[in-house]
Amino acid sequence: MITDMRVGHGYDVHRLVEDRLLILGGVTIPHETGLLGHSDADVLTHAVMDALLGAMALGDIGKHFPDTDERWKGADSLKLAEAVRELVTKDGWSIGNVDATILAQAPKLAPHIPKMRENLAKALKIPLERISIKATTEEHLGFTGEKLGMAAHAVCLMLKSI
Ligand code: MG
Repeated sequence: MITDMRVGHGYDVHRLVEDRLLILGGVTIPHETGLLGHSDADVLTHAVMDALLGAMALGDIGKHFPDTDERWKGADSLKLAEAVRELVTKDGWSIGNVDATILAQAPKLAPHIPKMRENLAKALKIPLERISIKATTEEHLGFTGEKLGMAAHAVCLMLKSI
């Protein structure tokens, strides 16, 4: 059996503002600021979706869910991730694994990571061990360090038996 493989990369940034919820991987995290965006601004889920779309050369989430479209206003990004999973798992492709890193100065994200993994594993229909989520600060440097925003990186591997 030969396995065809594709790697994907995703990156996203959202600004932190007052009077918005902080939602990461579908988990609402208590914090004095939240991420600003047309959808729920779940920067982690957006980076993961872009990695998946990137692996299959299907463009990016801006193409599939434009922020000019009222349908995606306040959208639950996990629902969008389900739609992306449908798009990328056509023609025998399956998600091998996803590895993501959130860049945030505060709050402490470690307690919330198990639930984020569970949410994304469910949306992508993959076992928990195939989704890794990590978090780091940038040592008070740059826009994440100054708490102006958060960023997320993600890579994924797509597999197909041929
Ligand atoms: Mg985004």
